[in-house]
Amino acid sequence: MKKRPALILDHAKLRSNMDTAIGWCRDANIDVAGVIKVTGGMASVAKDFEACGAKWIASSRLEQLVRARDSGVDLPMLMIRVPMISELPELVRTCDYSLQSDYSVLKATDEEAIRAGKIHNVILMTDLGDLREGFIDKDELVAVAKYTEDVLSGLHLAGIGTNLGCYGSVIPTGEKMKQLASYTEAVEEAIGRPLEIVSGGASSSLMPVFDKEMPAKVNMLRIGEVVFTGPLVQIREAYGRKEVDDMSDEVFILEAEVIEAGTKPTYPIGELGVDATGHTAVYKDRGNRKRALLAIGRADYGDPGDLVPLIPGAEVLGASGDHTILDIEDCAENLKAGDIVRFKLRYSAILYLTASENVTIYEI
Ligand SMILES: *Cc1c(COP(=O)(O)O)cnc(C)c1O
Repeated sequence: MKKRPALILDHAKLRSNMDTAIGWCRDANIDVAGVIKVTGGMASVAKDFEACGAKWIASSRLEQLVRARDSGVDLPMLMIRVPMISELPELVRTCDYSLQSDYSVLKATDEEAIRAGKIHNVILMTDLGDLREGFIDKDELVAVAKYTEDVLSGLHLAGIGTNLGCYGSVIPTGEKMKQLASYTEAVEEAIGRPLEIVSGGASSSLMPVFDKEMPAKVNMLRIGEVVFTGPLVQIREAYGRKEVDDMSDEVFILEAEVIEAGTKPTYPIGELGVDATGHTAVYKDRGNRKRALLAIGRADYGDPGDLVPLIPGAEVLGASGDHTILDIEDCAENLKAGDIVRFKLRYSAILYLTASENVTIYEI
């Protein structure tokens, strides 16, 4: 019998999604860095990206790139969270590329590469307004690029990149991509040669690709979310982009077990304070309704809003650390203890579930 909760990864569906996303990019002359961080860096997922034509494997965690390399993936490894100075020896030993946005880190990376007798490839990040990583001032970007090119002999300036839609919710529009292209031209003029890489962002930067607004200069996207979630991706749910509708949203399926089933009131009985997370919750009195209690909770998946029940009519009512409450009054199915409930998953739930030691991953 399968151990529960179980997380089922369907590699055929994943590869089909990867083929679709990498195909869109190929048609726009864009190479894909396959981002594995949402799966906790599963090496089998890195292998899928390699088989489907990604040109780099990327993660925000160095250990995950090391694991992918050790498992025999042959692609260059790209560290997409600016490295910690404390991990530079490991970075230089195991990664071919890193995103960089801080002069001290860049300088320390150079020193470490020289010490190791290696040339490390860097992509300098420019912050186009999302206010996470990157040089926000164009002149500073150009100056640091020129300094990297002329002085930092342990580094190769491979390109320029940006990231949008993470902290500041800034949409990667065609305009923002044009700005990235023009910054790239400024750097190229300063160093007197073309750059190999112009990295235009994450899954959300597919929107300007769909709209044929991506400048020809942008030739790399760092793609994660969309291949794992399909239509449950943000560009569908927040921006209504139907282009993703042919992709599978069942790459990852969660199976959780019912531990109590029956009818209860919907409004709590007693004096109300705060819930398990310390928040003042709002409860709607809908009378007595059928519900199921599941042996999985926030500790495993984070936010219950990121679970999409596969039983028609079921609704996630709420959760504490180790329990999830499902309203099943309107379901045709009659659940009882021992039954399994299956869910599709949004991005953050996949991120947490692949990292939970209570959850067993099955690959099919
Ligand atoms: C996570 C991440 C990505 C991938 O984003 P998705 O939304 O999963 O496609 C790309 N670039 C950076 C810097 C990231 O941190």
